[in-house]
Amino acid sequence: PAARASESAGWTVPLDYTPVHELYKTLRVGPYRDYGKITLAEVFRLYWYWLLIFLTALMLLGGVSVYILRLNRGLKQSEVRLRDAGHQLELSNQQLERLSNTDGLTGVANRRCFQDHLLREWKRAQRRKTPLSLLMIDIDYFKALNDSYGHGAGDECLKKIATTLGEAVRRPGDLVARYGGEEFAVVLPEVDPAGAARLAETLRAAVAALALPNEKSPIGGYITISIGAATAVPGQGGKPLQLIGHADQALYRAKGDGRERVVTAGGG
Ligand code: GH3
Ligand code: MG
Ligand code: MG
Repeated sequence: PAARASESAGWTVPLDYTPVHELYKTLRVGPYRDYGKITLAEVFRLYWYWLLIFLTALMLLGGVSVYILRLNRGLKQSEVRLRDAGHQLELSNQQLERLSNTDGLTGVANRRCFQDHLLREWKRAQRRKTPLSLLMIDIDYFKALNDSYGHGAGDECLKKIATTLGEAVRRPGDLVARYGGEEFAVVLPEVDPAGAARLAETLRAAVAALALPNEKSPIGGYITISIGAATAVPGQGGKPLQLIGHADQALYRAKGDGRERVVTAGGG
């Protein structure tokens, strides 16, 4: 009745359009133009949570990498700073040691350094059974120089004499030191009495050659030095203090004999 009412030919079994669909799909036409194509949007729609997890992990990894890189850079900088500080400390220590062993005015070794050095060389000479010589040097009429030209000129004179002595005494193990006010000491390892007297004479002549004016000095109006020389063979006994005593006595005799001369302990 419904077919008749609609004035149509009637009903039949539905036709199978599957082959048509298959053809459309194969030819990629009609509604199947994009069949099988994977679009980005599709991927996003299907796998957005995996992408989210992946991106989050990537960001976390990136963040951690940057953090580690920064830590590393900081560590390296700290390392460099630490190394610099260590180096600086070492330099400061060396400088401190140098300062504590140096006479501030003349730049040669101070008395402390002299005593350490003498003891060290004494022990070495004891082991090797070699001689050890010592020169005690005192500037003649130095007070007169201060009185005539002032304390500043006196200081300059001390510096020049220290430099002159230092330049003449060059062997390793030799040491020029300021012993006190206008007194210097020279330690000479492995030097016998004759060698000590020879070097002392060289030093006396070198200072005389400076021809530093000292108008009130009875010795030609110039700065001169007196030297007492002593030698010991530490292996045969004795003490460093005795060597200093002998050199001092020789110096005292040099002063008594008229100054500007070398006197050797136990000799002339
Ligand atoms: P002598 O020939 O007997 O050695 O006589 P001298 O005048 O050299 O000896 P004295 O001991 O009478 O005088 C030493 C002088 O050295 C006295 C002191 O004022 C001076 N003196 C000591 N230390 C320094 C110093 O650092 N600078 C200066 N300018 N003078 C100094
Ligand atoms: Mg003196
Ligand atoms: Mg003097």
